[in-house]
Amino acid sequence: MRKLGLERDIDLALHLPLRYVDETRLQTIASLHEGQAAQVQGTVLECRIEARSRRQLLVRVDDGSGELLLRFLHFYPASQKTMAPGRLLRVRGELRGGFFGREMVHPEVRAVTPDTPLPAALTAVYPASAQLPQAYLRKAVASALVRAPLAELLPPDVVPPGLPSLRDALMQLHQPPAHAAADALQDRSHPAWQRLKFEELLAQQLAQAQARAARARLRAPAMHARRDGLATRLRAILPFDLTGAQQRVVAEIGADIALPQPMHRLLQGDVGSGKTVVAALAAAVAIDAGWQCALMAPTEILAEQHFRKMVGWLQPLGIVIAWLSGSRKGRGRREQLAQVASGAAMLVVGTHAVIQRDVVFARLGLAVVDEQHRFGVAQRLALRDKLAAPLADNDKLVAPATDIEKLVAPSRGGDKLVAPSADSNKPVAPASDSTALEPHLLMMSATPIPRTLAMSYFADLAVSTLDELPPGRTPIVTKVFADGRRDAVVARIRHEVQQGRQVYWVCPLVEESEHLDLQNATATHAELSQALPGAAVGLIHGRLAAADKAAVMQQFTQGAMQLLVATTVIEVGVDVPNASLMVIEHAERFGLAQLHQLRGRVGRGDIASVCVLLYSGPLSATGKARLKAMAETNDGFEIARRDLQIRGPGEFMGARQSGDSLLRFADLAEDDVLLQQAHAAASRLLQQHPRAAAAQIERWLGAKAAFLKA
Ligand code: ADP
Ligand code: MG
Repeated sequence: MRKLGLERDIDLALHLPLRYVDETRLQTIASLHEGQAAQVQGTVLECRIEARSRRQLLVRVDDGSGELLLRFLHFYPASQKTMAPGRLLRVRGELRGGFFGREMVHPEVRAVTPDTPLPAALTAVYPASAQLPQAYLRKAVASALVRAPLAELLPPDVVPPGLPSLRDALMQLHQPPAHAAADALQDRSHPAWQRLKFEELLAQQLAQAQARAARARLRAPAMHARRDGLATRLRAILPFDLTGAQQRVVAEIGADIALPQPMHRLLQGDVGSGKTVVAALAAAVAIDAGWQCALMAPTEILAEQHFRKMVGWLQPLGIVIAWLSGSRKGRGRREQLAQVASGAAMLVVGTHAVIQRDVVFARLGLAVVDEQHRFGVAQRLALRDKLAAPLADNDKLVAPATDIEKLVAPSRGGDKLVAPSADSNKPVAPASDSTALEPHLLMMSATPIPRTLAMSYFADLAVSTLDELPPGRTPIVTKVFADGRRDAVVARIRHEVQQGRQVYWVCPLVEESEHLDLQNATATHAELSQALPGAAVGLIHGRLAAADKAAVMQQFTQGAMQLLVATTVIEVGVDVPNASLMVIEHAERFGLAQLHQLRGRVGRGDIASVCVLLYSGPLSATGKARLKAMAETNDGFEIARRDLQIRGPGEFMGARQSGDSLLRFADLAEDDVLLQQAHAAASRLLQQHPRAAAAQIERWLGAKAAFLKA
């Protein structure tokens, strides 16, 4: 039971059946038809061991309506006693029409007396293991249900009408009455299921509200844009005007960081919508106000590209920019670290090397995380800690010319749910009264969050949307070809190259094996080099040393290379406006969001661009749906919507899911209505019944009594 995580009564109470079997009724042997699962009860006429090709135990039973043969290929010597002639047996199994007439192979058998009662409830079948028999688990669950702390916490007016109490709901789920609606139990639409999901969603909504309230009490540096400040000067030297959407979003961010509470904002905008310059403008405001800014990207290539852009934009304005990546080690790294620690470097760009332990900021005021969904859960948590720590770890360092006197670690109440004391009338522990400052946080993503997710996991997040592409973009045309048309695709590449354009060729990850992955990319590189004499064909992949990667990227960026064969290292953010064609090999192996990201590498200038999706059949249904979605739309929001449909919400939560406490019972793709109800109930509960709210959070998410484990 411990292996299955079933330690406490509540664990058992929430260990729900996979399915049910109906043992509440007996059927007559004569009424059974082949293939039917049934329960019958009859008297043993004969019990013998037969040794033909192999030993087997044959038992004939009769219930008055007809005869049934039970056949056992494995049996114990004691079986013959249990099933001795004259014994009354209750038998459950599937009927087969055998050579000797009606038979069941390895049915479940129990010796009974004529007055042994039939169970009143459906019999639950639990997720179990070989060492844990169902019957044992059933008993354990039944007794745990009696003991588990399931008292009703919610006032009736916040529970949607028609739903049972939590204890009743669990009783019904574990021991449904014989007449229960089996379909509704199975597809989780049964009121008992609804109650359980509602409980979970409500706890989540309350926790989100709590986190929001906790955040509102944190302090952050208020950064005001100056009229002729750095941001204004940056705008003046940009080679383009901001789009209307960019202006709006810059204003939204500006308003946030001017407040003394930490910003917690997601900037979502389709690939190519121009998020980077928005980040640069926000950084300029922060730097101008005397605070350091960190810009973090998920891959080295992307981080480096950001670094170059920032250098191009901000260095002429006198800003020192540090570069931190996993590959920069030794003295170079130490020098950069010193600049970050002293505050000489006002902007720090890098990969997650930015959040390594040895990185200490003098006065981090704004952190920007690009492509935030690409960061793993652990990295996102590390970032949060980093955001909290630097100001605290360094009280020897002097804060900028503001009124901060003491820098103390801020309370992390927003992350860890603080359990309220029993007599507290408020759901949230009081904020620390320290003057600790927390940096503002801006996350950027090209993968829009579907509304249900925005309401649940990201309810604590303000969202800005770039819903307009810079002018002059020609929509990308996407074509889907079977791999057999490779030659035609190569001819097309030749054509593009002759026009002075550049081309990406993306090779997929092979079964998560970096080695095969590389082999495949190398072979493709050789093949294409041969097919395109005279063109410079480059190869870039994850195993390449950072300096080599950078060199290849530089050649491609500068136009010295016409064709770049790449593994998915180029997936995010790379910006080469002269690239007009992208070929994605084995497109069926990519996820929809990933395909859309890849495709976004072309169509970045005013040239008409094409994306060719090559696939090798046969395609699965989801593979087909993905390619179809890609061919039909360029709109990132529509892509995200279809992705949610095809695949469910998991992937939106972060690179790889494991460890993220996803909902255990509710399903955001299905339980939209319940989510709305939980949302409304949460705010009512907080206003009118704060103690119940606290108890609900404590029950589901609190430290010790947690119904759900972290
Ligand atoms: P993404 O949102 O995908 O990160 P980028 O920030 O990389 O997009 O911007 C894509 C390209 O568009 C870049 O070359 C960038 O310089 C350019 N760009 C950004 N904003 C504008 C604008 N307002 N007008 C013209 N080009 C722009
Ligand atoms: Mg980008």
